Amino acid sequence: MLAKVAIDLALDRLFDYGVPESLREKLAVGQLLSVPFGHRMARGFVVAVEDGAVGGEGPGYKIRDVAAIIDETPFFTPALLDLARSAAAYFASPLESVMKAAVPAAVTRPGARPRELMFVEPALAPCEVELTSRQEWLYDQVVRLGGGWMRQLCEELGTTPASLRALGQKGLVKLAVRQRRRDPLAGRRVLPTKPLKLNEEQAAALAAIKSLGSRPSTLLLHGVTGSGKTEIYLQAIAAELEAGRGAIVMVPEIALTPQTVQRFASRFGARVAVLHSALSDGERYDEWHRIRSGEARVVVGPRSAVFAPVRRLGLIVVDEEHDTSYKQDTSPRYNARDVAVMRGAIEGAKVVLGSATPSLESWANAAKGKYSLATVSRRAGLGTPPAVSVVDMSESRGAVFSPRLLDAVKARLRRGEQAILFLNRRGYSRSVTCGACGHVVTCPGCGLPYTYHRSDDCCRCHVCGGWIPTPRACPGCGAPSLDFRGVGTERAEAALAKLFPEARILRMDSDSTSRRNSHDDILGAFRRHEADILLGTQMIAKGLDFPNVTLVGVLNADSSLNMPDFRAGERTFQLVSQVAGRAGRAELPGEVFVQTYDPSSSVIRAAARGDYAAFAEEELAARRALGFPPFCHLSAVGVRSREGRLAGDWAAMYAESLKKVKGLDVGDAVPCALEKADGWYRWQVVVRSKSAALAAKAWRWLSGARPAPKGVVAFIDIDAFSMT
Ligand code: ADP
Ligand code: ZN
Repeated sequence: MLAKVAIDLALDRLFDYGVPESLREKLAVGQLLSVPFGHRMARGFVVAVEDGAVGGEGPGYKIRDVAAIIDETPFFTPALLDLARSAAAYFASPLESVMKAAVPAAVTRPGARPRELMFVEPALAPCEVELTSRQEWLYDQVVRLGGGWMRQLCEELGTTPASLRALGQKGLVKLAVRQRRRDPLAGRRVLPTKPLKLNEEQAAALAAIKSLGSRPSTLLLHGVTGSGKTEIYLQAIAAELEAGRGAIVMVPEIALTPQTVQRFASRFGARVAVLHSALSDGERYDEWHRIRSGEARVVVGPRSAVFAPVRRLGLIVVDEEHDTSYKQDTSPRYNARDVAVMRGAIEGAKVVLGSATPSLESWANAAKGKYSLATVSRRAGLGTPPAVSVVDMSESRGAVFSPRLLDAVKARLRRGEQAILFLNRRGYSRSVTCGACGHVVTCPGCGLPYTYHRSDDCCRCHVCGGWIPTPRACPGCGAPSLDFRGVGTERAEAALAKLFPEARILRMDSDSTSRRNSHDDILGAFRRHEADILLGTQMIAKGLDFPNVTLVGVLNADSSLNMPDFRAGERTFQLVSQVAGRAGRAELPGEVFVQTYDPSSSVIRAAARGDYAAFAEEELAARRALGFPPFCHLSAVGVRSREGRLAGDWAAMYAESLKKVKGLDVGDAVPCALEKADGWYRWQVVVRSKSAALAAKAWRWLSGARPAPKGVVAFIDIDAFSMT
């Protein structure tokens, strides 16, 4: 008997192990094993078990035996293993990397286990025991509380473990070690909610979801912000639960706020498990096991939740399906939305992709009939769509706020309403430039200008995270005349505070939210109206629902439009639409100002009108003419090296080899738009193909035949999202 084991070394190969007699009965596919590897022990998943070659010698090598089964319950069901295989093949990633991404490290780490604590339970009092009055009192208290965790009882009753143990020795209480769940929702008040009565469009969408079969098994739910998509998801999930099936809800990590989780927990209570990056290892361990055991039936989480071991999976929801956070930008470079569709096919589950601004790939799939389509065009609850104005900034001479926006902010402050202002750049200034010689203070590793951060008085690189203390004089010419140019959230905050000294302002960006929960704290404070203005980066663009917000300002809509990326238009449309969706979500009417230097941009105008169809039509025509997705699959071979010449040479070699493959349309090797990051030179080769599989296969072959040498990293990003 032979076990094929995936060991996480990203070598893109499996290793054979013999199975000792003692383990034969127990060994199963999907289990986590401990195996000898070189001079050490390694952990790996069993991917296949084969009869034949009974241990012993192979040609030129010795097959060693599996050392132990770490957990007899498989981590991968056959369906999940299939999924990992499909994802690995599609995204040209090593199977072992995908399997590693599929199971949280907190679950497989050596030493990971449930938390066990001492529990104290009252026993029947034997009649003849001598007790001090203090012991009598303590026993009565334990009975009154019905027992509890040792530590909690000590705290609550002001006693010590020794006193409780003394009661134990007299037979008055039983002490036992029990597992205690680490609950990420502990301490939150979750009020149950009932299903709302759906409006006509919502009801039609729900019916369409329920009638999804094997072809198509995926539905694109196009619904403007606030159109009640979440309520549709909730009711679709309820139907699955009723039929004894489970569900996965994927949301962008950034939108995975307590508020989002709360909506699911309110409806489904303890059947909900949450997986996200802010969980402690213990919480993650417990949540994952609750899912695998079948106790939790609904999983809410970010992209990795697509691999959650939900039993009898009936439905996968991918909310904000266009969101870039579904694409992992390190190996394995998978897109969880696409993996969701694969999983639906493998497990016979329905898949719902929801968005106010669907990706053009999904939109095209719906147009082709590959997905079915449901549309919810009106806001569901109270509230009308906001009035959106495009404000021309071309004559503003660098001002951050237009007079119209300032007037609107003033009016909100007067009326006691709230405003959200959006600026896609954190820090204080975009660059630090010498007024005398023009020298720009630049990160040596990345070749990009440093961003000045006033709060900790340093210059920080937003690519590699490196920083230097702010120079007092120009490092080039020595003149004390440094200019801080461009506007980031810190500077906008300072400017606002000056303009509106009476306003309470909160800033939210990755600098202000680095602590665990600070994200929630800021949003909570804003919700409780402890601030009038929330100023932030794209963090505030998603999934938030504040009834008292009646004004949204986009300070610079062009910053994303001018990105060197064929999706720049799409990103800008999404951004403006989502930010605009934050205004006027309840009774109060909303107003939106979009400041731009390019008011004639059709993308910004369509976004301002909320006209997705017009945007899609124009954008698709352009993509077709230029040969971009969804009219082909576009993948990028990336080559990185600390030596510029090496990266360029290897990229050129890969380009030449790929050009010989039939069916691929391969560009020349070029430096990336971001040519250097963190000391690494970055080159890429763009590969277009009719099918992604063709590019993946060609790359597997080529990277096997000509592996990158030491000092060079080469990979393919199938269906690349970011071209920078
Ligand atoms: P989306 O997910 O599309 O942004 P939500 O599900 O958050 O929309 O709904 C927006 C608001 O409308 C929420 O406050 C929700 O409770 C309310 N809502 C949704 N559906 C209905 C309905 N059928 N009747 C009344 N209110 C609804
Ligand atoms: Zn840098």
